[in-house]
Amino acid sequence: MTDFSLALNEDQLTIQKWVHDFAETVVRPAANEWDEREEFPYPVVEEAAKIGLYSFDFFANAMLGDPSGLTLVLALEELFWGDAGIGLSIFGSGLAAAGISGQGTPEQTMEWVPQCFSYENGKLGLGAYCVSEPDAGSDVSSLRTRAVYDEAKDEWVLDGTKAWITNGGIADVHVVVATVDPTLKSRGQASFIVGPNTPGFSQGQKYKKHGIRASHTSEVVLDGVRVPGSHLLGGKEKLDAKLARAREAGKTGDRQPAMATFEATRPAVAAMAVGIARAAYEEALRYAQERHAFGKAIIQNQAIAFMLADMATEIDAARLLVHRAAWLSRNGVYKNAEGSMSKLKAGRTAVWVTERAIQIHGGYGYTREYPVERMHRDAKIFDIFEGTEQIQQLVISRAISGLRIE
Ligand SMILES: Cc1cc2nc3c(=O)[nH]c(=O)nc-3n(C[C@H](O)[C@H](O)[C@H](O)COP(=O)(O)OP(=O)(O)OC[C@H]3O[C@@H](n4cnc5c(N)ncnc54)[C@H](O)[C@@H]3O)c2cc1C
Repeated sequence: MTDFSLALNEDQLTIQKWVHDFAETVVRPAANEWDEREEFPYPVVEEAAKIGLYSFDFFANAMLGDPSGLTLVLALEELFWGDAGIGLSIFGSGLAAAGISGQGTPEQTMEWVPQCFSYENGKLGLGAYCVSEPDAGSDVSSLRTRAVYDEAKDEWVLDGTKAWITNGGIADVHVVVATVDPTLKSRGQASFIVGPNTPGFSQGQKYKKHGIRASHTSEVVLDGVRVPGSHLLGGKEKLDAKLARAREAGKTGDRQPAMATFEATRPAVAAMAVGIARAAYEEALRYAQERHAFGKAIIQNQAIAFMLADMATEIDAARLLVHRAAWLSRNGVYKNAEGSMSKLKAGRTAVWVTERAIQIHGGYGYTREYPVERMHRDAKIFDIFEGTEQIQQLVISRAISGLRIE
């Protein structure tokens, strides 16, 4: 019996190495500078675009071209091994693209997804996925941003404020989740495309963050924003049918749009966290071999070596959950919220491993002279966005119990 195998195929190994080389030679050397500048790293993302890493083709092939579902998570682990802030700037547009391709018609997907990943005449096209609001983060069923249909003009009018939006305001394509019928909570929501230079759409405050500081995060404000009827993802007929079902039966089989997107992207986000954890572990292993105290390398103390042994074990455990979830997600056979399990484990692992890496570096680890300090700040977001630690626990506990745990 030799059926069980974790071996990667030739294509996967080639892509893994290609992304690793880019992360090592271009991303890692730029990490400190862009963390300090707290700005979107345009020159680095342009380099990624020039080699085809920042592109719709790469994203689509990595997501859909590999039936095992592993190519995307392998690529993300390598890129975030290079740097998380820059990595998110390169792949932040992916959430918008996933939202469009998941909820849009084939025509909408063909029109808008390439604009989230374009690089033409020296200009990058970026995407942003706008769900969260100042008073609705985890509780996406209580969004206040309203979408009202103007039948005479076949236009939708959007009003509201979105909070914490990656690439918010600097993106060319914003996917905005808004409520069409607030009485139906999440079942009354729909997603809209807001294209470039749309009147009434503006960037609000830009957040100053703890980590992933090379990634741009802002509020976006929608003040009487008008978009054509064709910008409703999935189309009006489908939305009307969904709303009618929800009103009549009081329930619908449709999942809320934001939840559907997040479910599909969780293993990918978990892979990013694994990349950070591995980077910090490697730094700590090297440092423990080089640093001497009491006449010997510090790794010769069990206290340090065992810490490293635990770090390596936790990272491998997280990666295995990520690969399992990626495979299950690609093949449509999630059973017990395995995507949420991978995200929960990987986020916690990244925070714990990066903290231990600082411990192994002693005082030096607490300074910006060594990258583990940045990695620790970067890791924390993986307990928060794309569903907090507690929201993952909620999803898992509901899946394993079949009960509506509150
Ligand atoms: C850097 C950054 C980038 C982001 N990018 C995006 C983006 O591109 N697009 C987007 O739409 N959003 C984005 N977000 C928003 C992110 O998804 C939310 O911050 C996150 O979902 C948590 O929402 P909240 O901040 O409102 O916290 P809250 O929902 O208010 O949660 C506060 C605390 O309460 C806990 N909690 C809440 N409800 C429950 C419950 N039922 N049971 C147990 N505990 C609970 C939470 O786990 C958390 O610990 C980003 C956030 C950050 C910080």
